[in-house]
Amino acid sequence: MASVTLEKIVKDYGKFRAVHGVDLNIRDGEFVALVGPSGCGKSTLLRMVAGLEEISGGRMLIGDRLVNEVEPRGRDVAMVFQDYALYPHMSIAENIGFGLRMRGVAKGEIERLVAEAASILQIEDLLSRKPGQLSGGQRQRVAMGRAIVRRPKVFLFDEPLSNLDAKLRVDMRTQIKRLHQMLATTTIYVTHDQVEAMTLADRVVILKDGRIMQAGAPNEVYARPNSRFVGEFIGSPQMNMLAARVDRAGRSPAIRYGAFNVPLSDVEAADGAEVVLGFRPEHLQVCAPERASFAAVVDVFEPLGSDTLAVCMLEGAEITARLDPELPLEKGGTLHFSVDPARIHLFDAQNGARLA
Ligand code: ATP
Repeated sequence: MASVTLEKIVKDYGKFRAVHGVDLNIRDGEFVALVGPSGCGKSTLLRMVAGLEEISGGRMLIGDRLVNEVEPRGRDVAMVFQDYALYPHMSIAENIGFGLRMRGVAKGEIERLVAEAASILQIEDLLSRKPGQLSGGQRQRVAMGRAIVRRPKVFLFDEPLSNLDAKLRVDMRTQIKRLHQMLATTTIYVTHDQVEAMTLADRVVILKDGRIMQAGAPNEVYARPNSRFVGEFIGSPQMNMLAARVDRAGRSPAIRYGAFNVPLSDVEAADGAEVVLGFRPEHLQVCAPERASFAAVVDVFEPLGSDTLAVCMLEGAEITARLDPELPLEKGGTLHFSVDPARIHLFDAQNGARLA
């Protein structure tokens, strides 16, 4: 096992800079998810760790070893791809053992390692089949088996679940988590799905335009996003955002959005400054009118069973609330909401940076 260190890593494709000096230290045994919208550079970063993409600038270390110029096979990393990349003419056992055979590992030892991986992944009874005779989820497990048998220092996953249906994705997610608990191998996992990133990783790294926006434990980035971008990217449905203004004219300074106002605490912002007020759907509470922060009109509601999402109109803005499924709702009905001030996020309207 090993740590992975990225120091000021840059990637240029011709004149286009896809990665802008990324610094990241991944601890031995840590599970890190790289997440971000399409084109943010997450696959490029992963491929640079794998050695599949040349590094244009900076230093990359696996353990204490500088690997910038090291060939993929010399890095002792194993990558699991989105499309599995299995050999169709080989049996599952042969597919799993292929890398070991190429390395000249003895036949008996290959058999032992393949059997062990198959047992971990619960695919023992599939070993004599061909990839074409497996379901998508089973193929995904075989691809992981191929990575496991090599006992690499680092596992690299590139959107491994994106070709699976929703239920299977959740099952496989649990499998991957269990696998990491069992083997404790340093893992870098690329996904555009923030739920996958949050549920799997010890640390989530949110990227945008080739730069790290924030890196932290899942609950940390959820509770304290450092920018409007991260606030909107993490959490589903996404954080409500209102374009509000600082009002220092009254007796107690406040942030106002129409009738909704929030006491202005330790924020240094001038009177009239534009700020963005953020709060999550799950932090809105239906309450009596006299205790309410604001009233909003129900536009659409979506029962999920465990709770109901209500999209409501608040003075021209759309906000979403996650509500008790028992609460009677009707389109056009008025709901009174309170929000715990501790759950409110404030962002700079211009650059999106967190203010409080
Ligand atoms: P996605 O989720 O869509 O796969 P990503 O975050 O993984 O996105 P990358 O594939 O890392 O993004 O690409 C980062 C940027 O680099 C994108 O703007 C992409 O168009 C560009 N890029 C990637 N590969 C090449 C290439 N071979 N030549 C030129 N530009 C490239």
